Amino acid sequence: MAPVPFKSSAAQKGENHFDLIVIGGGSGGLGAARRAAQYGARAAIVEETWRLGGTCVNVGCVPKKVSWHAADIAEKLRQAEAYGFKVPEGSDKIDWPMFKQKRDKYIERLNGIYERNVEKDKVEYITGHAKFAGKGKITVVPTYPESKAHGGADVERTYTADRFVIAVGGAPTLPKDIPGYEYGFHSDGFFYLEELPKRAVIVGAGYIAVELAGVLHTLGVETHLVIRHEKILKAFDPMLQDVLQDHIVKTGIHVHTNSNVEKVTTDVENPDLHKPFPKTVYTKEGEKIETDVLLWAIGRHSLTDNIGAETIGLELEKNGDIHVDEYQATKVENVFAIGDVAGKALLTPVAIAAGRRLANRIYGGVEGDKLSYENIPTVVFSHPTIGTVGLTEPEAREKYGDDQIKIYKSTFTALYYSMMDPDHKEPTAMKMICAGPEEKVVGLHLIGLGSDEMLQGFAVAIKMGATKQQFDDTVAIHPTSAEEVVTMR
Ligand code: FAD
Ligand code: NDP
Repeated sequence: MAPVPFKSSAAQKGENHFDLIVIGGGSGGLGAARRAAQYGARAAIVEETWRLGGTCVNVGCVPKKVSWHAADIAEKLRQAEAYGFKVPEGSDKIDWPMFKQKRDKYIERLNGIYERNVEKDKVEYITGHAKFAGKGKITVVPTYPESKAHGGADVERTYTADRFVIAVGGAPTLPKDIPGYEYGFHSDGFFYLEELPKRAVIVGAGYIAVELAGVLHTLGVETHLVIRHEKILKAFDPMLQDVLQDHIVKTGIHVHTNSNVEKVTTDVENPDLHKPFPKTVYTKEGEKIETDVLLWAIGRHSLTDNIGAETIGLELEKNGDIHVDEYQATKVENVFAIGDVAGKALLTPVAIAAGRRLANRIYGGVEGDKLSYENIPTVVFSHPTIGTVGLTEPEAREKYGDDQIKIYKSTFTALYYSMMDPDHKEPTAMKMICAGPEEKVVGLHLIGLGSDEMLQGFAVAIKMGATKQQFDDTVAIHPTSAEEVVTMR
């Protein structure tokens, strides 16, 4: 259905009244506010830091991926000799301060682009901490001095709106019950780190732990991963867990399984957390790990403890998430929540898609538009990368029953590694999960060179309900790793 422009009368209700106020200038908030304004709604976005873009741009996907590229280059430099290049010794050592400075500058540029985009779309950009102050009303309290410099309020102000979108995202969780936890930092700290450490301990087994362990290890840091269970990436297909864990152990990451940190000590007084300093991590299992950096990557929590939820009767989940229906609506009329704060599929494109669809439906007349949370493709930027969409094998067996499931697998070494000795080879493994007599593809799990870029197109086919036969009917592209996906037997 073609979008219908929205006729706004908000301005008639006063300068500080909007059709839509979005709280949080991250991926989801920007997606919703800009799209609403593009339809003609009078929209405002409130951001409590001095920079737009949220977690993804400032301390998430973007600086993480840039860091992954840096590590990838180090790896390629080590591998280049196998192809006949003479690479002087030490070329794979990164100039971290220079790299960090450039990465920060790039992020600042993105912040500027986001500011210009909201201006172009005529979204009112308000800086400060937003809090509900009763139905239809928020107060915005000045936060950082920088926010004032960016046009933010220097006094508390009140704004009203017909509708609100809560897109406040989350923050990394710290284990405050562990003595000495404060000698470590979380993923935000990783991006502030001014020197590359010699040794690092990372606690956690999820996306962030695995990705940052991979970056540090590949850049030459002695890396320890402390995980509380047997396997990394618990929510992923077991094949991916096994292949990646075996490989990272083989390449030298010290994975401490079934392990928990008991305490952390240091002899350094008033340490500067932005720099590495020696400390000791003691585990409950009796290990003592000496390290320069300790990174907690044990999950995130929603930033909802100070948004005045009680003033509008908005109940939060126990963990602080906001429960929404399939249209991102909370139980409070005209209050919606999108992105990480809604607690489902904590990914940037999910937040953006939910925000845009919400705006399409409310301001663009696109009836019934909403985000389907099924078959969301995702990548782990590990070394090698993982690409995954749909159900894991255990999930598929549970949903359809063992007799309705057919599994296709392929393991091989990508052609790129044919010139290298075994020490430099990375594995590739693929698993396709099919359900029912028509063998509909309900899960695809890839690990190996290029899996990150390979998945997107296959995810389209799976979203469209493709069957194994249709994959088979697609002519392969040779020589690639992706061709295996359409030739699995
Ligand atoms: P956010 O982007 O967190 O934005 C929320 C904004 O709200 C923030 O700017 C915050 O300052 C602001 N805010 C909070 N409270 C208030 C308030 N009361 N008033 C005003 N403003 C407020 N996802 C991917 O898809 N791919 C990746 O590769 C990827 N890598 C990641 C790597 C790391 C290290 C991390 C931490 C996350 C990564 N993610 C990745 C996840 C992704 O960053 C999040 O899913 C995404 O940013 C969520 O968007 P959001 O809009 O919900 O929240
Ligand atoms: P995850 O939920 O992925 O992982 C959290 C990890 O912390 C789990 O491995 C969990 O262990 C572990 N953990 C939890 N509590 C403790 C504890 N008390 N002690 C030790 N370990 C603990 O969260 P992340 O913080 O890694 O990432 C947050 C979200 O951000 C992800 O879910 C993802 O959606 C998004 N993200 C996406 C990326 C991408 O798209 N490439 C990259 C980075 C983040 P266990 O598994 O044993 O329960």
